[in-house]
Amino acid sequence: MLRHLISLLLVLPLAAQKVALSLDDAPFLRPAPHMAAPAQHLAMRKTLRDRKVQAILFANGVNGGDTPEGKAILQAWGEAGHLIANHSYSHWDLNRDEVTLDAYEADVLKGEALIRALPGFTKRYRYPFLRAGNTVAKRDGFYAFLAARGDAIGHVSIDTADYLLDERLRKRLEEEPWADTAPYRDLYLKHLWACARFYDAWSREVFGREIPHVILLHSRLLNGLFLGDVIDFFRVKGWTWVSPAEAFKDPAYALMPKNLPGGEALADAVSAERGQPGFVKAWRANSTDPDDLLFSERRLSERMDQLGL
Ligand SMILES: [Zn+2]
Repeated sequence: MLRHLISLLLVLPLAAQKVALSLDDAPFLRPAPHMAAPAQHLAMRKTLRDRKVQAILFANGVNGGDTPEGKAILQAWGEAGHLIANHSYSHWDLNRDEVTLDAYEADVLKGEALIRALPGFTKRYRYPFLRAGNTVAKRDGFYAFLAARGDAIGHVSIDTADYLLDERLRKRLEEEPWADTAPYRDLYLKHLWACARFYDAWSREVFGREIPHVILLHSRLLNGLFLGDVIDFFRVKGWTWVSPAEAFKDPAYALMPKNLPGGEALADAVSAERGQPGFVKAWRANSTDPDDLLFSERRLSERMDQLGL
């Protein structure tokens, strides 16, 4: 009995990691093989309802948020109890020289106008590409804009490259509609686990404690097919899915880091702000399993090539 108890304690994580789900670039109406966008959204919502997980969607005009079909999809998410937030109208990169602060702010307002009246609308802004400005004037000017409007930043603590797998999967299914999708799902879960472990360790180093996480996934075919596997996988690993509001209430998510260029995932931004590089190098150096390095886009692409995905 005692031996059983000890072995149980050994497999329990030191801290119960918590994670909230965010889905970017919604509604993403680009044509997809196998499962069109409306069916992807139905599948994702059913998955989340069955597993009692709430998501926050970050919407754009250019990804279909400005069409009647896209608005109906976002409305259905809101009615199902999920949160809808702004990801700008045009998905511009604030780090590009040609993107001025004035034009960017106008575009953010245009994005908000599309979703403001939807059920579940919440005042939280996520930067496209997680890029928060390539000059002090743009970075701090936009921080002031957010603060004046009462908008919080939709920080990410676990960044992922799910879109790379999605691109390969869509291409494969366009060419071979009956291709086996299981290898894509298996590599997707390995990729997410590498990202979660990497950013969890980095966040603990930066904050000196466990923070509730916010993971960035995308509104895409990949998640229409595999979001349920993702939710279940993290639960098997001992992680708990929490609401976006629960994660975002942690003080770490109220930070406005002064790194330059601005943005990136929270641990990355705060360590850059403090001038504390070195975590990524140390993590790579200490990794013994090649799967640990699958958080890197390059490593993920190489693995997809190796597997013929
Ligand atoms: Zn985006």
